[in-house]
Amino acid sequence: MEPPVWNLDQLYCSDHPKLAADLAALKEQTRKFTGWRARLQNGPPSPLEFRELLTELEDLNRLAHRLSGFASLAFAQDTQDQKAQSLMARMNEEMADLGNDLLFFEIWWKELDGDQAAPLASAAADFTYWLTRTRAFRPHTLPEPEEKIINLKNVTGGDALIALYDSLTNRYRFRPPASKGEAEVGRDELMVHVRDADPAVRAEAYRELYRVFGADGPILGQMYQTAVRDWRLENIRLRHYESPIDVRHKANDLPGEAVAALLSAVRDRAGLFGDFFRLKARVLGLEKFRRYDLYAPLAEDRAKVDFQTGFGEVLAAFGDFSPLFRSLAARVGEAGRFHARPGAGKQGGAFCYSMLPGDTPWVLMTYNGRRQDLFTLAHELGHAVHSQLAGDHNIFHFHATLPLAETASTFAEMLLAGRLKARAKNDRERAGLLFHLLDDAYATIGRQAFFALFEIKAHELTENGATADDLAAAYMENLAEQFGGAVEVGPEFRWEWVSIPHFFHTPFYVYAYSFGQLLVYSLWRSYEREGAAFVPRLTELLSRGGSEAPEKILAASGLGPLDVNFWQGGFEVIEGFLAELETLV
Ligand SMILES: [Zn+2]
Repeated sequence: MEPPVWNLDQLYCSDHPKLAADLAALKEQTRKFTGWRARLQNGPPSPLEFRELLTELEDLNRLAHRLSGFASLAFAQDTQDQKAQSLMARMNEEMADLGNDLLFFEIWWKELDGDQAAPLASAAADFTYWLTRTRAFRPHTLPEPEEKIINLKNVTGGDALIALYDSLTNRYRFRPPASKGEAEVGRDELMVHVRDADPAVRAEAYRELYRVFGADGPILGQMYQTAVRDWRLENIRLRHYESPIDVRHKANDLPGEAVAALLSAVRDRAGLFGDFFRLKARVLGLEKFRRYDLYAPLAEDRAKVDFQTGFGEVLAAFGDFSPLFRSLAARVGEAGRFHARPGAGKQGGAFCYSMLPGDTPWVLMTYNGRRQDLFTLAHELGHAVHSQLAGDHNIFHFHATLPLAETASTFAEMLLAGRLKARAKNDRERAGLLFHLLDDAYATIGRQAFFALFEIKAHELTENGATADDLAAAYMENLAEQFGGAVEVGPEFRWEWVSIPHFFHTPFYVYAYSFGQLLVYSLWRSYEREGAAFVPRLTELLSRGGSEAPEKILAASGLGPLDVNFWQGGFEVIEGFLAELETLV
């Protein structure tokens, strides 16, 4: 059986007559909705009117998601198709216009007096979290003229700086390692060689990466420090956030203490990854383990798995956990919403698009039969289970918020790993899976948490007048603490931090990766302990979607509080992998 393709005709047929009609309907609904603007200026609506307003807003959002969703899916299945390209461009414009037309409501809601807002929010009970979240930024919002000035000046200020960083670094060209050809290559092509089997090639690739970034190191560092100062001036001085990282906590709706506990837990247990690297060095037969060897490949099982077998394995892994999970995952295929066949022009990567509450999600990936494809499949179907479980919520509540967004997907990968491990034909295969899991654990938990620790430090140092060289020194200290003597780090890594786009684009975003992955390990630990009793708890957690603060959702399923002990549970899982691997190799 060939990997399937989806059927987009379910949304709109190819000549799009219904699409034009729906677009016209959306415009009409929007026109009607903007009528509320005048009504709201006469004072707050009655709870009944407010409900009516929210229902209208939800309806038009549903229609908008359907239209823009169709355009994105058509584009993803063939990015070279000119009809899809132009539809996509058109929808982007329509959606930007729609956003502007609807903006008045959010501004009005945010500015409304607390006394007037509270009864309205509680009368619209199923919208409460979204409504409260919108207002949570009120203390950090400036009067409209000032917001307008910031927006305007950002175009040629902060945003322009980041765009310059992108333009500058995206045009970097690199010399490939000596044995790999002559012609200069881009960063992605260079980075392929850090996974080479030859240790010399890996080292060459890294040295070249940081030779190029390092040549501009001081100026990239200056750009970074300017972005850091801009972040502080705007968010601390003007918007009165408590600290630079507090901005991100508010956006994630997480208490700062929970993240601090996470980061300090990772710091305490950094040695665990050190043990893993020592073991990896032994298996690879390396005398010392260098930073260049982090992604060194192991002799991998190259056997291909045909689609039918692979899909069956993944569904069985869901079924091992719960029949409901299995049937929700299977539905994506049954409903013709799964695109897994390789094709020219198809968008790379993988995604699960949950367009509307209560509707079967759309999943795209490219299935080539490698083991990694099975994990991608499990991951995306995990997302699909999550959004279907949360299908009873309105459109503002059904998507999980960032800290919980990867819960089902990562948990599904764990389910698959568990099943494959149990059914592995030999110890070598089992060890291969454990290496995969531990590589992943390091890349998402250890590395990203230490990134966040560096950002905290860099913001602090910059405020106190540090130079780019001081930051480079701080970065080397960060690596020294992270690797604790288990990994030898070359001096060129002092410029790694200027090569991390996240630091420039979305300060402190990276901790969410650590948070999500370690959270799932903690959940996995509970599952190992409780067995079947855990199933309804996870189901409950997922079915809440994004209808409450992450901490509340966890607490309602009897999980948390998110203190050092909680995160410790996650590390026990990593300890378990490592112990098992020790006995195998
Ligand atoms: Zn995901």
